[in-house]
Amino acid sequence: MKPSLAATTSSDPYVPGHGDLSFDVDHYLLELEYNVESNRLAGRATLTATARQDLDRFELDLYHLRVSKVTVDGAAPAKHAHQKNRLIIRPRSPIATGDSFTVSVAYAGSPRPMPGPDGDAGWEELADGVIVASQPHGAPSWFPCNDRPSDKATYEIETTTPSSYVVVANGVLESRRRRAGSTVWRHVETSPMATYLATIQIGRYEQAETDTAIPIRTVYPAGAGEVTIEMFARQAEMMALFVRRFGPYPFEAYTAVITEDELEIPLEAQGLSVFGSNFATSAWEHQRLIAHELAHQWFGNSLTLGHWRDIWLHEGFACYAEWLWSEESGGPTAHDQADRHWHLLEELPQDLVLGDPGPDLMFDDRLYKRGALLLHALRRTVGDDAFFQLLQAWTTRYAKGTVTTEQFVALAAERCGASVGELFDRWLRDVRLPELPAS
Ligand SMILES: [Zn+2]
Repeated sequence: MKPSLAATTSSDPYVPGHGDLSFDVDHYLLELEYNVESNRLAGRATLTATARQDLDRFELDLYHLRVSKVTVDGAAPAKHAHQKNRLIIRPRSPIATGDSFTVSVAYAGSPRPMPGPDGDAGWEELADGVIVASQPHGAPSWFPCNDRPSDKATYEIETTTPSSYVVVANGVLESRRRRAGSTVWRHVETSPMATYLATIQIGRYEQAETDTAIPIRTVYPAGAGEVTIEMFARQAEMMALFVRRFGPYPFEAYTAVITEDELEIPLEAQGLSVFGSNFATSAWEHQRLIAHELAHQWFGNSLTLGHWRDIWLHEGFACYAEWLWSEESGGPTAHDQADRHWHLLEELPQDLVLGDPGPDLMFDDRLYKRGALLLHALRRTVGDDAFFQLLQAWTTRYAKGTVTTEQFVALAAERCGASVGELFDRWLRDVRLPELPAS
């Protein structure tokens, strides 16, 4: 191996070894064939990309699966090497800044979750099916990609599986056609999407759909029926509340997939969320998470962080959405929730900086709560009207884009006055839990 083909780039210190900043993928075409019984995946990924600098080489992320063929603009590259989860490609001739190019990768193998600093993520076999839950680093477990959240792209996902299974993926199901004993499911996602939010779900599923303006689908294990659907029935009210508070729902539809298996935590993907069967209860602890995952469609999936240090822009907002739902559904008010959680947090170790928590604490529950408390402190400071108008301005101005904490702070200052800067400084930078302003 020539040293010049060693992996060199890394886009984010929170997820080291992933992503390449030298190019953007604009579109992914994923053609996948999957055998559920043997967990055998054969795929071809065709990426349409644009060079952000002159390229004599570039890198894709791909974990564990074996590459059989690579082309760049239809021709074999000068060289390619797959090592340490990176597929390093040297095209025949350099690609100039701003030029677009296509890369096609044929690959196969038995996908498995990809290990990372905060545990495994990505493709995961269920008892009889598959989930893909990639936050934050699992996308390379099923397709070659430029795995950084700041590189959003559109997708076509064509999945061929035995006809006894249902496939759910991001975007719109454009067609479903039978081929011998298999079915080809073609999903198209036309809204830009971060790699970690791309997903397919495979299982023996049935589904129910609301006739609301934004269709809400509940996909559940065949035979689980009424009781399961009922536990997710309040999603329509949650949707109505969030549209009122956060602005228009950013995508065409929303799907909640409930797996037959129990899962540790629910997970968001673009346009859909995944829950284990253990979450299908009326308990507040589960209902709050159903609201939380829905809120991620605005905060995380439409407005997506460019750097993982800004994770509070996803989790703090989704947690605050839980408190809004609590109030709306007749439970404790958002004010009561905030007061209660402030006192709970005060008793816990205060070693977390909300604005840059470090990779070990990025999914710590204290970050979720502190982020929500920051929003509540802001609401108490500027008042309800200014606060909710700010949230709507935020989701409108940066819809389907990439965001930073600095942009949110700047927008808040623009709309609510520069004096909010001090509040943000305290909440984002102090290790000690700041006081909540009096209501
Ligand atoms: Zn979340």
